[in-house]
Amino acid sequence: MKFIFVTGGVVSSLGKGIAGASIGNLLESRGLTVTMQKMDPYLNVDPGTMSPFQHGEVFVTDDGSETDLDLGHYERFTHSKLSQANNWTSGRIYERILAKERRGDYLGKTVQVIPHVTNELKEAMLKIATPDIDVVIVEVGGTVGDIESLPFMEAMRQMRHELGRDNVVFVHVTLVPYIAAAGELKTKPTQHSVKELRALGIQPDILVCRTETDLSREIREKISSFCDVRKEAVIAARDVDSVYRIPVNFADQKVDEIVLELLKIEAKPRNLEPWKEMLDRLTHPKDDVVIGIVGKYVDYEDSYKSLKESLLHGGLAHTLRTRIKWIEAESITRESASRELADVDGILVPGGFGNRGIDGMLEGIRYARENKIPYFGICLGMQTMVIEYIRNVCGIQDAHSTEFEPAAENRVFFKLRELKGIEDLGGTMRLGSWPCKLQPGSLAHEAYGQDEVHERHRHRFEFNREFDRPLLDHGMRISGETPDAMYVEICELPGHPWYLGCQFHPEFKSRPLEPHPLFVEFIRASYKYRQSRLSEDQLNEERQFLRTRVQ
Ligand code: GLN
Repeated sequence: MKFIFVTGGVVSSLGKGIAGASIGNLLESRGLTVTMQKMDPYLNVDPGTMSPFQHGEVFVTDDGSETDLDLGHYERFTHSKLSQANNWTSGRIYERILAKERRGDYLGKTVQVIPHVTNELKEAMLKIATPDIDVVIVEVGGTVGDIESLPFMEAMRQMRHELGRDNVVFVHVTLVPYIAAAGELKTKPTQHSVKELRALGIQPDILVCRTETDLSREIREKISSFCDVRKEAVIAARDVDSVYRIPVNFADQKVDEIVLELLKIEAKPRNLEPWKEMLDRLTHPKDDVVIGIVGKYVDYEDSYKSLKESLLHGGLAHTLRTRIKWIEAESITRESASRELADVDGILVPGGFGNRGIDGMLEGIRYARENKIPYFGICLGMQTMVIEYIRNVCGIQDAHSTEFEPAAENRVFFKLRELKGIEDLGGTMRLGSWPCKLQPGSLAHEAYGQDEVHERHRHRFEFNREFDRPLLDHGMRISGETPDAMYVEICELPGHPWYLGCQFHPEFKSRPLEPHPLFVEFIRASYKYRQSRLSEDQLNEERQFLRTRVQ
């Protein structure tokens, strides 16, 4: 059993998740099998109920777990199979312990943080170290020194003690800030952070130092000497324009070699060729494509993390750079739509909950439909696409979802699961992977090139099949449904260049080397629209203009 533990110090948001995922990526490139785990010290049982503004995206795994967005990075950078077992919070750990305590499992003993919480944590870590796995990478959320992360640190310390030095590597991600007034990089925060870690009994083996510029030899030596870390294990993680460059940056500094040496693992030479080829497309796009996202959490881009990445992957598939124009749904009205959406090549309405912004989305969608602009609706974006159609094309003006109009007479979307008496953990939420049968000859079938696919869900409201008739009679096509025909999964509009909505979240399954087919096709259609929308001169002018802007 080989473990790599990734902790963070100085400040949060240093990219521990990406650092861990990049190490996983490099190990995979050497033929090893890795799995990844996120340990979150907060008390929520899972991030499912947290606001997107607070926590960013909720990432959904195949088994329907609502997890931290770092699991999205893990899946995009590696092929590790993730489930509920790969994301723990203090809340979930305590939930288990308290249930055991009530059942009397502790036989009258006093239940304590040490050993009961730490044992539970170790058990969760060991559980995913199955025989098929070469290396387990565990990332601990938060920053060293946080009160709530103490049991996690202690559990890791014990793991090293119990499994031995050859089986556990500690990677610590810190910040080496550039202080403009002094004109130099400062190592003190890193020193303090390592001191804090050592006070907890953990000596880091590798330091990943986030910096704006490179680390000079002197700085590396200084950090190495004060923190007691080998000089070559002081890694510079420079700011980069794309997170996908990080595995290569780490490879240049031999991070994988150091890890393998410390863990005493023999592995094949690394093969980063496919990854580098992808980076080459990223660096030298042949053109731009502009996608307008009409959503409600647009000021906080982390809430659409996977979506943003999927659009980028879709662009990469055509060697295009996807530029995203974030549009606050509430700002769109019948009058403003043409102005707000004039300069986009494709329009996307993503997932979301609650009433705010729905009218704006409906107007944006109508604009896309009437002006034959490629449209992609995801979850809420599919629901609004269908509502708009039933209202403005089928002429049922008061059509709505009971989420927004509980008393709606023409309820096109409603809580089918509640009606059927299905109460489950997600509170009637349909979660995780579900099969979807595709209708031959549809856009969806063409995109996937398969008859049946599996996609991930996270929603409550379902299309009401009583509205099949008006929808189909007026030309919309139901191109995907569950094999039992209970749930409608995909709708599309023949005769429009590309107009498709899906009830699931394809963005959770897109990877830079395996872009999701629906995003690939949406970008293809959007780029085609861009070429028809702009003359050759305008295209050149726009290219020039976009080049000068840093996104
Ligand atoms: N609010 C909608 C529902 O619950 C859509 C959810 C989503 O977009 N993820 O069905």
